[in-house]
Amino acid sequence: MPIPSLQPPLKQLSRLAVVGLGLAGCSLLRALAQAKARFQVVGFESTTEEDWTCARGAVGVLHPFVSKDHNLASQISQSSLACSLQWLEALQAPAQGFAGLQGVLEKGERQPGGWADLTWFRQACLSDARSRLGDRLSLRFSEKVSDLGDLLSNGFDAVVITTGHSQLLPESLHLALTPIAGQVSYLDLQTIDSDLARQRLQSLLPECVVCDEATLTPWVKGRVYVGASFHRGMDEALLQHDDQRDNLARLAAFRPELANALEPHWSKAGAWTGVRYATRDRLLHLGLPVLPAPHLSRSVSRLEQLPRWHSVYCFLGLGSRGLSTAPWAAECLVRALLGQPQDFPERLFHAIDPGRFLLRDHVRA
Ligand SMILES: Cc1cc2nc3c(=O)[nH]c(=O)nc-3n(C[C@H](O)[C@H](O)[C@H](O)COP(=O)(O)OP(=O)(O)OC[C@H]3O[C@@H](n4cnc5c(N)ncnc54)[C@H](O)[C@@H]3O)c2cc1C
Repeated sequence: MPIPSLQPPLKQLSRLAVVGLGLAGCSLLRALAQAKARFQVVGFESTTEEDWTCARGAVGVLHPFVSKDHNLASQISQSSLACSLQWLEALQAPAQGFAGLQGVLEKGERQPGGWADLTWFRQACLSDARSRLGDRLSLRFSEKVSDLGDLLSNGFDAVVITTGHSQLLPESLHLALTPIAGQVSYLDLQTIDSDLARQRLQSLLPECVVCDEATLTPWVKGRVYVGASFHRGMDEALLQHDDQRDNLARLAAFRPELANALEPHWSKAGAWTGVRYATRDRLLHLGLPVLPAPHLSRSVSRLEQLPRWHSVYCFLGLGSRGLSTAPWAAECLVRALLGQPQDFPERLFHAIDPGRFLLRDHVRA
């Protein structure tokens, strides 16, 4: 039986719309190019090309979610992190200095992972997709999509929504996506005047990323990053002084000596702010959502019984792990678009089915 959320489009694909060119959208374009998709692809992005291209770089950490019983979230994390690391190697990120993949220290144990420049990653994916898809790919910057129906009635056979948020979809779909604004603090080595203070700081920094009360990077192009704060329910990325202080306080909880050494220079620290969207079980949404406003009969109790909104695919809710998740999810979604079998057990896709919350709420009611 096909996976309910990952069925191919009803019509043979000749034109696909990808809404949003963030980590998810750009990963999807690269995965389409890798799979040698033969159809036309149009990417819509609401920001201007200039703003998109000049966006300030932030460092993203790649790390696994490990559970004692290796639950579904942990299985997805294992597969998806391996895929991200492969992509970064294929895009030559470490060799070009855009990533360090020496692993992460998590609860004192070395795990696979590292860091990568988030802005570089999306640009590298897009440029790879552009070079392979050629004139089959067109990009429309400064175009905010506000109506999916418009796209579907204007020659697109399928649409993938990768906007982070779910504002294009009705609330009745129970996607349960919450905005979480946050801030990563960073300090530039060059802002420290004293050679001695600089050397002392360098000697206290780790050789790989450390994930604990906060995330700490090694020196990355002359900077150290500490983050990130979480403001659940806030959808505006505002720079907050309190967050700078809190990031340092969280660092002090597991690296007190380093936090003390950073403290006198912390007023010169910069910050990167953003908003991530997460679901209530912290897993992403991948695939076909439920048909808007369906009247579900009481007998509906399984995902395959839900009526699907065919040809509209969600790729949403990457939360704080976009870099570790987007490439794997993009490859799975491309297999669905091309009608190919998936390489992973069906139960993994049930865990990230966009209909799961609606079904759970329906069964509970
Ligand atoms: C403070 C902070 C720290 C983080 N740290 C890490 C980390 O260490 N590691 C990690 O892996 N992840 C991290 N993340 C999370 C990561 O940034 C997200 O997971 C990732 O950005 C999600 O990618 P996305 O493509 O789903 O959404 P986005 O990156 O939000 O991209 C969505 C795109 O869609 C566009 N768009 C929106 N609406 C429309 C529309 N209607 N029409 C057209 N275009 C539209 C937007 O302009 C945007 O370009 C962090 C996030 C924050 C905020």
